[in-house]
Parts: sequence; C-alpha cells; structure tokens
Amino acid sequence: MAELGMGIDIGGTNARVARVEPSGRIIGSAKAPLTDHSPAGVVASIAALVRQLGGEVPAHVGVGFAGMLRGPVVVNAPNFGWRNVDLGTPLAAALGTRVTLLNDLSAAAWGERMAGVARGCDDTFTVFVGTGVGSAIISAGHLVRGATQVAAEFGHLKVVAEGGRRCGCGEDGCLEAYLGGAKLLEWMKEAGLGGTIADLEQRALGGDPRSRELYDFAVGHLALAIANQVTVLNPRMVVLGGGVLARCPGIVARVREVVSRRSGAAARAGLEIAMAALGDDSGLVGAALLAG
Ligand SMILES: [Zn+2]
Repeated sequence: MAELGMGIDIGGTNARVARVEPSGRIIGSAKAPLTDHSPAGVVASIAALVRQLGGEVPAHVGVGFAGMLRGPVVVNAPNFGWRNVDLGTPLAAALGTRVTLLNDLSAAAWGERMAGVARGCDDTFTVFVGTGVGSAIISAGHLVRGATQVAAEFGHLKVVAEGGRRCGCGEDGCLEAYLGGAKLLEWMKEAGLGGTIADLEQRALGGDPRSRELYDFAVGHLALAIANQVTVLNPRMVVLGGGVLARCPGIVARVREVVSRRSGAAARAGLEIAMAALGDDSGLVGAALLAG
C-alpha cells in the first residue's frame, strides 16, 4: 500500500478524495458536495472524506483547488469568495500530513501528462472551459508557476482593451467573463437567450443572428487567445477539456481552425490538439502523482 498516492480535488460544488496508483489508476475514492464554503467548513469536509476513504494517509498529499494560490495560501477564489486565505496549513494539521496545494488546472494538466492523452509529452498547454476558464503550462517537463506562482491564469487574460464585462475575479473584460460557463449563461439571460451553452452553439451554427453574435464573440476570443499562446509557448500539444468543451464540438472545431490559421507557423509545426482523456479525474490523478 505504501506506493499509493492520495489526491484531493476541491471544486466550487464538490470535493473528492482518491487513492491513486503510480500508473494513474484510481483504486478508491470518496466524494461529497461542499455545502459550507467557509475555510473551516472546507477543511472539515475534506477531513471527513479522508476518514470515509479509510486506510493510512500518505506522508505527502496533493490538493487541486479552483483558485489562485501562493504556497498554502488561496490568493483569490471567486467560487468561494476567498481572498488571502491560508487553506494549506489548517488542512495539513487536520490530516496530519504534508499538503501541497495546486491550482486545479495545474493538477489536471499534470494528470493528463502522466496518465492521460499527453502521456510522456514534455511541452503542453492545457485549457479547460467549465464554470470558469483555466489553463496550465508544462514546459520541458515542468509546470510553469511564475514568480509569484500565479502563472497561466488564462481565464483572466483581457479580451477587450478597456472595460468589458465584470469577471468573478473582480476585474473587467476577462476571457472568463465571456466564455466561462457561469458568465456566458448570465450573458445569455441578459440577452434574452435561454437554454444551455450547447443550445446556444446549435442556434448560432444554425444561423440565429443574436445567438451567433454572443457565440462568435466568446468563442472567437477563446480560439484567438489559444492561437496566441501557441505562438508564445510553442507547445507539442494543446490539451482541451472541461464540461463546456466536452459538450460543444463546435467550439473545439473553431479552436482547431483558428490555431491552424492564426498561430505562428513555426510555433505550430508538429502541434497536436487533443481532448483530455481522464475526464473529471484528471485533477485528482495529477494532484496525487505530483505529491507522490
Ligand atoms: Zn477575471
């Protein structure tokens, strides 16, 4: 049992805990909705899940968390309403082990690199679009963290020069304010457009002008932003995932098309664009393997 890692995934809605083999295979997991979003409530929920999973807690546990992090501190987590909250220290104390907090996308990118579609690939750019928009960069086999550990906050890249729609991070004009699932649904409502994002895609591609306007703006900016990142980073693989991209093949097709046309020709030579293979498990697996 000693070689088994433990991964924890803390999202806005649910928390999950799993034991993971070095191969990336999950051999036991527990999941619960996160109803109490206070720091103490989250720590208590995770400790309860770890107890429910049973067995020994490894010496080092990886935790994927949906927010900007600096060491054990959550700098900004719009889904939780947290600013500068130390989550790592009380969580380590509650579990009686060493804990490493990772941005959820860093965990997912690592999971895909170690056990998913990007297995063995040392240079990847991973973008997930779900409730929000996130990314992670792996360069020469290492996660790029940046000087203050908040690199690759792709969802908060500005897509308009001034102003723009208000983002959950408190700034204006972020990509996530247009294409994150939560914000796009808000925007659709304001525009009198009902249904899901997959419905919006169907109507837009079917020629409905109002749907087309929103869809083209949001998807066009996502696709161009990814193309520009390819130019900057020169990855071997772009890994796409998250609920919105899984349900909207038209967005993925647009990304492929725009990257093939608008990224730098030298940077995209040999580039592969692939869908994430581990589904909801990529972050859990990545967190466990990065700590293990
Ligand atoms: Zn933002």
